[in-house]
Amino acid sequence: MKNKKKHIDTRVVHAGVKPEPITGAVMTPIFASSTFAQKEPGKHSGYEYGRSQNPTRDALEGSLANLENGLKAFVFSSGLAAQSAVLEMLKPGDHIIAFDDLYGGTFRLLEEIKSKSSNLEISYVDYNKVDLNKIIKNNTKLIWIETPTNPLLKITDLKKIATIAKKHKVLTICDNTFASPINQKPLDLGIDIVNHSTTKYINGHSDIIGGALIIGKNKKLADKIAFIQNSVGAIPSPFDCFLILRAVKTLSLRMKQHNYNGLKVAKYLEKHKKIIKVVYPGLTTHSQHKIAKKQMDGYGAVVTFFHKGNLKEIKRFMQNLKIFTIAESLGGVESLIESPALMTHAYVNTKAGQLTPIPENLIRISVGIEHVDDLIEDLKQAL
Ligand SMILES: *Cc1c(COP(=O)(O)O)cnc(C)c1O
Repeated sequence: MKNKKKHIDTRVVHAGVKPEPITGAVMTPIFASSTFAQKEPGKHSGYEYGRSQNPTRDALEGSLANLENGLKAFVFSSGLAAQSAVLEMLKPGDHIIAFDDLYGGTFRLLEEIKSKSSNLEISYVDYNKVDLNKIIKNNTKLIWIETPTNPLLKITDLKKIATIAKKHKVLTICDNTFASPINQKPLDLGIDIVNHSTTKYINGHSDIIGGALIIGKNKKLADKIAFIQNSVGAIPSPFDCFLILRAVKTLSLRMKQHNYNGLKVAKYLEKHKKIIKVVYPGLTTHSQHKIAKKQMDGYGAVVTFFHKGNLKEIKRFMQNLKIFTIAESLGGVESLIESPALMTHAYVNTKAGQLTPIPENLIRISVGIEHVDDLIEDLKQAL
């Protein structure tokens, strides 16, 4: 579906998908073939080998490119594999500027793997506090943004950073996992590459690990990523592509409920006497609420808060919950709760000094699509 003017509610259902030409199957089938017959040596119908091309993967990539208003999308076997593919474009000695509050796995990939294997130089800064013009150097090749960030939900002004980066001819990437294409479209604001962990909202059913890159307008950049996707080979299986494509059809519906529930739960927690502070970009008390309001159409369902109690009381509160499950991850239909300091971001605290340390009384919840009254009741009895 080429027409990008249609509502996103329509595009999530139709984009990238057309009836399969031989049978007319309405839903793109799982093409579980590692190789494709050629009419004569070197003459094929666009499909030669499963790592290079796959029709189920094509449909998913077509859908994601459309939803982010991009030129091309590329899917990977995980969010980190997608991020790794971007870093493969750089050369030894190149400099990256990254946000100082990042998904823990992204930080580990940059610090423990890429900075060593590719000899990259990385500076971590808070884009709200520094003048990027002064941080960009001659060897700066990439500006890495995550907004909202995981887990502190800090917001970066995408248009502002994209404008500065363009002036210096530096590429920008935005990890859009926490917003989803329903709530935020970084490419429209001038960002070059969007990255997703499709494991989260895009798949939304907590049954897939996957990742994606979507390229804005730059055809050369898209060709480079295509080459890396095929050369490195961290592609998802046709079965995973099928499931994600299936899930995308309800992305818009799910996000409506996530956005609604997220705000309601944040407002409830904000008033609770056992809670010191709630962080949620949709609250007017969020320090970058104005930027969030300008660039987002909804605020998602990750809510972070600081509990008044000690670690023992916090553990008891989490274990008392009946609907929320103690688990890592986010963006699924079911509500989850976790302790970033003990679970997802334990690695970050071993590197305090470079990144913002995560306090022990910080709790992150991912609000699902259950009825919000039941979720609030559950939080109330556990608190
Ligand atoms: C989960 C996550 C990732 C990593 O994705 P995987 O699919 O787990 O590899 C990257 N960025 C953000 C913001 C995430 O939440």
